[in-house]
Formats: sequence, C-alpha cells, structure tokens
Amino acid sequence: MNGSFTLTATDGDARAGVLHTANGDVPTPAFMPVGTKGTVKGVDPEELRALGATIVLGNAYHLHFRPGEELIAELGGLHAFSAWDGPILTDSGGFQVFALRATLLESDDDGVTFRSVYDGAAERFTPELAAKIQERLGSDIAMCLDICAPAGVSRADLEQAVHRTTLWAQKQRDLPRAPGQLRFAITQGGLDTELRRRSSEELVPLDFDGYAIGGLSVGEERAPMFEATAHAALFLPAAKPRYFMGIGDPEGVIEVIARGVDMFDCVLPTRTARTGSALTWDGRLNLRNARFARDAGPLDDGCACPACTRFTRAYIRHLVNQQEILGLRLLSLHNLRFLIDLVAAARRAIERGGFETWRADALSRLTRQPLER
Ligand SMILES: [Zn+2]
Repeated sequence: MNGSFTLTATDGDARAGVLHTANGDVPTPAFMPVGTKGTVKGVDPEELRALGATIVLGNAYHLHFRPGEELIAELGGLHAFSAWDGPILTDSGGFQVFALRATLLESDDDGVTFRSVYDGAAERFTPELAAKIQERLGSDIAMCLDICAPAGVSRADLEQAVHRTTLWAQKQRDLPRAPGQLRFAITQGGLDTELRRRSSEELVPLDFDGYAIGGLSVGEERAPMFEATAHAALFLPAAKPRYFMGIGDPEGVIEVIARGVDMFDCVLPTRTARTGSALTWDGRLNLRNARFARDAGPLDDGCACPACTRFTRAYIRHLVNQQEILGLRLLSLHNLRFLIDLVAAARRAIERGGFETWRADALSRLTRQPLER
C-alpha cells in the first residue's frame, strides 16, 4: 500500500505527520497506550477516546495464548472484541519471546522455541505464525517478528539478531494481511552503529509501510540509547513512519521526537498509576507521601483529565492508600492524558517551527525537581 503516511511539517529532525489506517487517521508524533491483553488496564475504550488517544497497541503473543486469535476472529476481530473502533497496532511477540530470556529455549533461521509464560509449555513462533496471528486479529498495523537482543549481549549475538530479523522480514513481506493492514519491519542492532546501519539498509529496500527502531530501551544507558536512535533514524526513509518501541517517560518521549521518531508506546503511564504515582510537570508524584494528605489541589495544574477536574490529591491519596480501584483508575486516566497532551504540544510546536524552544522549556520544567519514586 502506498501513501499510508503524510509528513506535514519538520523542525530540525522532529517531524509532524498523519498516519492513515483502515480505521482512521493518527496525527503524529503519537503516543500509543498499551493494551497488551486487549485492554489498556482499567480504562474503557470510550474513556481512551475522550483522553485523546488515537491508536492503541495490542500484543500478538498474549492474545495468541489467551484467548487465542481464532476465537477473536470468530467474534469479529480485535476491534469488535475489545469495542475499540480506532486504529490498533499489534506487536508481533518478538519482544516478549526474546526479552524474557529465562523462557527462551532455542532459535534458528526458521523461528524460535520458548516456554509460554501462561503454562510453561514449549511453544514455537515463526514469522509465518506471527503474520497469521495478526491477520486473524485484524489489526491496522502488524509488526514483523524480530529478534530483540537484550542490552549487553556480544557483538556476534547482536549481528545474528540483525541477520535473522532481516531473514524473517523477507519471509513476512508478502504473507496474507487483514484488509487494509499495514506491515512494519523492525530494525535491530542495539547500540552498534555499523549494525544499526546494516539492519536499516537491509530492510528499507523491502519497502515496508513503516519502520520500527527496536532493540533499544532494553536496559542500556539513556545517552547512548538516544544517540543510537538518531543514528538509526538517519537510515530510514523520510516518507515512512518511524516507531520507537517501548518509551513512555515524559523526558524520553521528548528526546525521541527530537530525533525524528513519529510513534512510541509504553506501559509506563498505567504501570506508574498502579504504583500510586502521577506524572506531572513537577516530576513524578508518589501519592502515598504524607505531604499530600491535606492537599486540596489537582494532580497537575491545568490538566483537563477526569481526575484533575473533579478530585483532589488528598482524595486520590486516600483511595490509593486504601487500594481502592477508583484511585488506580484515576491515576491511569491522568497519566495517559498527561502523555497524550505532552505529545500533542510537541506536535503543535513542530508545526509552528518552535520545537527546540518548546523542548528546552519542557525539559527544564520536568526536571526542575528531582523525580520522586
Ligand atoms: Zn489530570
């Protein structure tokens, strides 16, 4: 498919655009809330829409094991099954298989064998199966099965990850897709500049609908990770969307946007919420802290989310301390809204040509107080 992405503005290396999918347009840069098991934990799809989410992420690995792609297909596909009618991107399972090192049994040129996290049974994923699962799920964007090497592996292992990721992308390139489904390849190479270039140079001629920068945010230091991101982006086509896999802290999001990334996902907003913390312009607030006991202010001044417009820090602190479900839900809604608003502001700054000023201001606001855990 051609023309699935329109670049509308650039400012330095930062980009604004629109990704066109079978179930709607996604303004970019875009943060994608993660609905691993077909649900963004604790958040109703209508609430997601109201928060400004334009695309959500599902996971082929988890949905394959529970409840299974055939059952989901029988019930109309992942959109109908989860009652989210907007764009969905599905991850292939490569990250789950390879990042959970303890469950990995064996991998070869044809696929990978591992123990399922659900029941410990030996299972095998192949490029063909990853494509089939995502075709049955009916997602708008399917990701290629790739090999995501953790930080600190040998260069030989990194080189093999690049080699097999390309081999698997070649196999997946022309396999059957759901109607209108886009397919993205994932570049690998860790922090190795030569391998990152090689991975992109092997995958770009295959003309995928978009390219992910994979194999980063897997435990390495932040500064080299951002350097590798900028380096990886150099070799990706300007006309195709770029997806950084697995970043969702406010500073990190700003830094990858500055390096030409269009899309990113992370469980951080909802996971942070479940630990009782809020993302704010004053850093991360742990609501369990006694200093919020009588705080009648909102989580974050100026936030228009359902938590900030109606409830106080003191009340949310009480809910969190009592392990009330509403407390975790309100924090999830707020954290998602915070990131979605942050990315929307970055997009506006790129469009008006003021991204660098905005970025410097945003980073100084976010880091003016030390992060609390
Ligand atoms: Zn809020």
